[in-house]
Amino acid sequence: MNIKTRIKETLNSIPKYVDLVAISKTKSSEEIIQAYDEGQRIFGENKVQEMTEKQQILPSDIKWHMVGHLQRNKVKYIASYVSLIHSVDSMKLIIEINKQANKNQRIIPCLLQIKIAGETTKFGLSEDDATQLLENSIKYKNIKINGLMGMASLTKNELQIHNEFKKLKNFFDQLKSKFNQLKILSMGMSSDYKLAIKNGSNMIRIGSQIFGPRN
Ligand SMILES: *Cc1c(COP(=O)(O)O)cnc(C)c1O
Repeated sequence: MNIKTRIKETLNSIPKYVDLVAISKTKSSEEIIQAYDEGQRIFGENKVQEMTEKQQILPSDIKWHMVGHLQRNKVKYIASYVSLIHSVDSMKLIIEINKQANKNQRIIPCLLQIKIAGETTKFGLSEDDATQLLENSIKYKNIKINGLMGMASLTKNELQIHNEFKKLKNFFDQLKSKFNQLKILSMGMSSDYKLAIKNGSNMIRIGSQIFGPRN
């Protein structure tokens, strides 16, 4: 099966209100263009340099999402064009994004990455820290925290994944009652996006199901 068929099938398998972020890390511009020609406009990358190189040569109506861990000293390279940062996890990063967005005279939409997986290796904030960050970020006018992102454990145990997504959805709803600006709940990847949507996700990040396995 080719990229065009796979992207069509993925879109057909999700409700209209769910935004599909095609995760194109390690994939070539030619492969991205195949998805683009099928109408896909949102692409996600996890490395600043790779995303910036692709952004410079690919069509300008592509919306680039940063989904990987972001170092403060690299924010300046993406601040002019990035359309959503999924991986905000510290106040220092918020302050730097705000500063670079201000230099570019724009507001950068961001998600707070919440730690939901049991594994210790994953990045992300606790619920308490996220609440605190959200409160403290309000005064920074060039960054807008629009929602939350989470990654479930890498496990075949569906009940565990279900519980992790459900916990994030509950937290999202609770936080949303206090912070009206929260709209996006980014959860679900190739292996677990159906479960994520059942648990309230409205943005999924799909790589291998569209582009095939990464080398
Ligand atoms: C790579 C990646 C994905 C996509 O993973 P697949 O399993 O290939 O769909 C989603 N989210 C993040 C943060 C990633 O780094």
